[in-house]
Amino acid sequence: MEQDKYSILVVDDEKSSLLVLSTILSPFYNVFTAKSWEETLIRVQEDPPDLVLMDIVMPGIDGFEVLRRLKENPDTRGIPVIIITGLDSEANEEKGFLLGAVDYITKPFKNPIVLARVNTHIQIVRQMRMIERLGLIDPLTNIPNRRCFDDHLGVEWRRAVREKRSLSFLMMDIDKFKDYNDTYGHPQGDVLLKTLALIFTASARRPGDLSARIGGEEFGVLLPDTALKSALEIAEEIRSRVEAARIIAPDGKTETHITISIGVVSEIPGVDNIPADFISRADKLLYAAKAGGRNRVCSQLDEV
Ligand code: GH3
Ligand code: MG
Ligand code: MG
Repeated sequence: MEQDKYSILVVDDEKSSLLVLSTILSPFYNVFTAKSWEETLIRVQEDPPDLVLMDIVMPGIDGFEVLRRLKENPDTRGIPVIIITGLDSEANEEKGFLLGAVDYITKPFKNPIVLARVNTHIQIVRQMRMIERLGLIDPLTNIPNRRCFDDHLGVEWRRAVREKRSLSFLMMDIDKFKDYNDTYGHPQGDVLLKTLALIFTASARRPGDLSARIGGEEFGVLLPDTALKSALEIAEEIRSRVEAARIIAPDGKTETHITISIGVVSEIPGVDNIPADFISRADKLLYAAKAGGRNRVCSQLDEV
């Protein structure tokens, strides 16, 4: 086995799928396979792979339940999971992302596409490990923290100035989060923060995009090379996904929900502009979204 290769666990109950996927991936990765949930859970615990590619429909427990377990366990929750399945409904895809999957591939799949997507996520693993080593990850939500965000903003800002490209930023704050904490308890508030982080990262998925926890209950999404129109589409998608998300309360039955407000700015930065002003403009727009009734997106188009 080659030491410097990343390892991938492929989970499928069909021998033929396992064979095809192993053939595609093994020139580049150390590939391991599992044909049942039991094997999968033992394997990820004993020798965690760098990435899991898994079918969601297999005999026994529901695959989504397995995904939930992997994401609940602190030892395994950092392992990216790509779902590869014959279930191609939007509802299942959304469910997979909400439970923490990083990607969703439907069968029949095209070999080069599977390899490309795996490569992308391994690239992210490599970057995340580097970021972790530098202390740039927020331990609660597992996404970049303020420091990481500021560094990334600096880099992207300079790039945008140099290349005269648009840079967009979404500043988000939870609506009435104090009430949520008061009603369901602070630990449940933390569960909510984690769920939101998943929604943000699932919605802004281009390689340069960065979702970060920039304050206690404040998040930011930086979108390089993105003009206002697309930024507004992403903001609206995030707003509506959050509004639609249902998070189970500590009693295990009650479904809780929350909304967020978003301030959006977009510009092609000039040499005379500074990132701090860009962020503070988004902050003001976020405040306008709150003043306008919350659960809404305000952008520079709303500036008077
Ligand atoms: P608004 O819609 O105006 O934003 O109302 P709000 O209640 O969300 O705003 P406020 O600033 O009054 O309250 C923020 C709350 O966020 C209070 C604080 O307890 C909560 N909070 C901040 N960080 C964390 C955290 O790490 N975990 C939890 N559970 N709550 C947090
Ligand atoms: Mg706040
Ligand atoms: Mg708030």
